[in-house]
Amino acid sequence: MKRVPAHIYCLVADENVFALYGEQFLAKFKATGKTLFHIVLPSGETTKDRRVKEEVEDFMLRHKMNRDTCCIALGGGVIGDLTGYIAATFMRGVPFVQVPTTLLAMVDASVGGKTAVNTTYGKNLIGAFHQPTVVFMDMGFLDGFSKRDPVRAEREFKAGIAEIIKTGAIWDASLFELCEQKVEAIQRRERAVLNEIVRRSVAIKAEVVTLDPTEQGLRAILNWGHTIGHAVEGLMGMTDYADGLLHGECVAIGMVLECNLARAMGVLHSSAVGRAVRCIEAYKLPTKIPHHLRIDDIMKKMMGDKKNTGGKLKCVIIDKIGHCWEPKASMVFFSFLLLSFSSLPFFMIVETGHCWEPTSLAHARALSLSCRLTCGNQGTRAYTETETRVHAHAHRKAHTHTHYLHMKTHRPFEARGLSVLSASMRWVITVCCCVCAAAWVLASFLLVAG
Ligand code: NAD
Repeated sequence: MKRVPAHIYCLVADENVFALYGEQFLAKFKATGKTLFHIVLPSGETTKDRRVKEEVEDFMLRHKMNRDTCCIALGGGVIGDLTGYIAATFMRGVPFVQVPTTLLAMVDASVGGKTAVNTTYGKNLIGAFHQPTVVFMDMGFLDGFSKRDPVRAEREFKAGIAEIIKTGAIWDASLFELCEQKVEAIQRRERAVLNEIVRRSVAIKAEVVTLDPTEQGLRAILNWGHTIGHAVEGLMGMTDYADGLLHGECVAIGMVLECNLARAMGVLHSSAVGRAVRCIEAYKLPTKIPHHLRIDDIMKKMMGDKKNTGGKLKCVIIDKIGHCWEPKASMVFFSFLLLSFSSLPFFMIVETGHCWEPTSLAHARALSLSCRLTCGNQGTRAYTETETRVHAHAHRKAHTHTHYLHMKTHRPFEARGLSVLSASMRWVITVCCCVCAAAWVLASFLLVAG
């Protein structure tokens, strides 16, 4: 409180967190002699809403709060984002303090000053940059969570780990390695390892945010996994915990698919994709799009992403573990995205120089794109139902459009005029070629004989 002197303090708390720590917090605060009003909000993503913002603002106005007010957010990322946005606009901006109580909020949401509410059009679309004056992190909050609801606490914890893996993957290979190697210790929540990964993750985010506080370029790399992740999260309808996916879980799916995207672009080696996927799977985080989501719906949601400019889709691309391809979100082509969603063979014809050469694109998890362009159809693996469904969908889309991939010459490989054709088309072309060849041989024979 010495750091944030104010006339009135306004505590905005999550109902579950308040049930655990509220009384203690109020008692300690009373001892300081300062005035504190508190408002307790329902837990869950639906609280991050313009209607709830208005409710809190009316509460503050009713209690005659003014510019000499400090907001305190006590809860996870939902409360932090909402309270931060209220503080950003109340009386044109008042200071606020973050007290994050989930791992995800500690390593990500509370650092960097991004505040927002959701709309029916997408997540975090209305908001402001407003830095908290103080962020108070106490790992003890995680223990309280585990005692209250161990199953849920475990899931929330892993969702937080997903953001730490992300930070390592984009910026610091040694942090990623720590997550890779210390799976057991981290899952047992050994305090020394946990403190270390949280400290490093927060330091990296703080460094990136300091270099680019309002996301003019570099800061966008923190959104790796989030372009697809946010689309999935948006389509899950911000449902309740049981049916829905947590933010960090959607980011885990997004990281896997965005790794596939980087590989499809020829930027990321398959071994790095494998490492990322294995690490995410080691924490039993989801890696696949839920069954009921449609790829075209995900694509549509992605087109509404904040990073896009001039109607062009942008996505953060990593080129190795611990490093981003560009220090910003990169422009991606629809076709590559489609490839990253597919997990079964596509059939392609590649225009090389002047001749058309029938080639099949093997499994999306094969070694590399150049390999997939030349090796045959690997049809032996038993595919899961999701993969078959996703593929069937991707395939249908692929057949109705011709996609051209344009690559800059300094990329690891060069592909020109790559178009997607169906298997039956491929057979028709092969048969036509055979007939032409036979006719040519016959004509030559008749010529020679004549
Ligand atoms: P959350 O705030 O919904 O909290 C998760 C659940 O845990 C809630 O039900 C809450 O009641 C409960 N809870 C929280 N702390 C607890 C504790 N110590 N003990 C018992 N129960 C506890 O979810 P979250 O995962 O913390 O945050 C997700 C939100 O953060 C999303 O809205 C996301 O968009 C946002 N986010 C923002 C940023 C940013 O830069 N601003 C970054 C990442 C995520």
